[in-house]
Amino acid sequence: MNTTSETKCVCKHPECGKEFLVIVQEVQFYKDKKLPLPDFCPACRHKQRMALRSERKMYQRVCDKCSENMLSVYPEDAPYKVYCQKCFWENIE
Ligand SMILES: [Zn+2]
Ligand SMILES: [Zn+2]
Repeated sequence: MNTTSETKCVCKHPECGKEFLVIVQEVQFYKDKKLPLPDFCPACRHKQRMALRSERKMYQRVCDKCSENMLSVYPEDAPYKVYCQKCFWENIE
C-alpha cells in the first residue's frame, strides 16, 4: 500500500457529492483515533460547524407580549416580534 498518497473520499451530503482528498496525515489521525474517515468534504463540514454555532447563539430578549425575560435566536435589533414559550403557544391557537 502506498502510504504517501492521499485518500479520495466522496462527500455524503445529498446536495454536494463532491470528491475530496484526505491527506495522509489526516488519514493516519483517524486511524490512530479509530475513527472512520470523514463523510463530508471540508466545505460541508465547515458549513455544519457554522450552523451549529449559529444555533447556539441566543440573545437576551423581552417577550413582546408579557415582557418576561427570555432567550431568543433573534438579536435585539431584529425586525421580528419575539414571544416567550408560553405566549408563543397562546399565539398559535
Ligand atoms: Zn460536500
Ligand atoms: Zn410572554
